[in-house]
Amino acid sequence: MRAPEPLAAEYYCVTCRTPFHNRFPLDADGCCRLCRSSIRGFDAASCFGTYEGTLRPLIHLFKYSRMKPLVKPLAEYLAAALPRDQRFDIAVPMPLHWRRRWQRGNQSELLARATASRSGIPMANAVRRMRATESQAGLSNAQRRANVSGAFRVKGGRQVQGLRVLLIDDVMTTGATAAACAQALKRAGAKSVALLALARVDRRLAEVPAGESSHREVA
Ligand SMILES: [Zn+2]
Repeated sequence: MRAPEPLAAEYYCVTCRTPFHNRFPLDADGCCRLCRSSIRGFDAASCFGTYEGTLRPLIHLFKYSRMKPLVKPLAEYLAAALPRDQRFDIAVPMPLHWRRRWQRGNQSELLARATASRSGIPMANAVRRMRATESQAGLSNAQRRANVSGAFRVKGGRQVQGLRVLLIDDVMTTGATAAACAQALKRAGAKSVALLALARVDRRLAEVPAGESSHREVA
């Protein structure tokens, strides 16, 4: 199997790093429409690759088949995508609702922990998922935001106050879930929130072929 390749594009949003075919969706500052509308809760986003090709089966094997040894290469990819010019005080894994966590185990947390320790950033399970939000698949952007708003709560009062938070997730679809989680962190006093994801759904590519199940962002 070929090694997954980092995401490449001619045009990116400067904030969320969404790739585009041309300059048209970006404003003079290089921001996409979603970032301009300031419904993004996070200040920046970086991803290693696209949720296609070799990366997709690797993530599935790790998350759903619980192939634990994959944590090492996957954490390496995540660490490679970490912006070199930024500093973070704390790494926070994207939380699962307890029911899903019980069904699936905490693979995402395992990955976040390995990445944080590789990068020398302390990790804290600072956020709790209050609701098991329904699958985001098939929802519009606005519906996705409504679906996840209020779904997250920061634990234990002031633990993120004044901190630069690195929020770690495995797959970013529209960023609506990450935005809702980032907003909860900001409400709890986080100074900034940057999202780091292993893979992002690249909307430049055609829709997922019929028969192949689309990624469930609720993860
Ligand atoms: Zn953007």
